[in-house]
Amino acid sequence: MFCPFCSHSETKVNDSRLVAEGQQVRRRRECLACGERFTSFESAALMMPRVIKSDGTREPFDEEKLRSGLMRALEKRPVSLEGVEAVLMRIKSNVRATGEPELKSRALGELVMRELRTLDEVAYVRFASVYRSFQDISEFKREIDSMGKAKRKPPKKKSPVEKQ
Ligand SMILES: [Zn+2]
Repeated sequence: MFCPFCSHSETKVNDSRLVAEGQQVRRRRECLACGERFTSFESAALMMPRVIKSDGTREPFDEEKLRSGLMRALEKRPVSLEGVEAVLMRIKSNVRATGEPELKSRALGELVMRELRTLDEVAYVRFASVYRSFQDISEFKREIDSMGKAKRKPPKKKSPVEKQ
């Protein structure tokens, strides 16, 4: 990188260490031209796609919003914070794995539901009932009944009415 003092292109690294729990590398650099010293931080660029809402508007992927949604669904459930974070990590890596710059909010919701279902079925039903806004009670009952059948995908709804 260029020296911030004289813009010379060659600097040497005197010291390099992991910071931020290994998420960043901190380097002490010295300019080979002017001899000034400075610090640089390097971290992996992990771009999350933007979320396309059902009305077509876009918003940035909001990890905090996702976490609070998970926490609400998991309220008073026997799931540790570590369990929540692990699910959040899996959702994020699944989202990144799509490689798409944008992601429909519905697809994100399905991803969340898939992960929640393996973590805690009560939380799954809570999340699904809010997210899918079940049209009537019989549909909700079908969803709960389908949970008894192992590893089956949740039934698709005919006329989706999204909350988000
Ligand atoms: Zn310099």
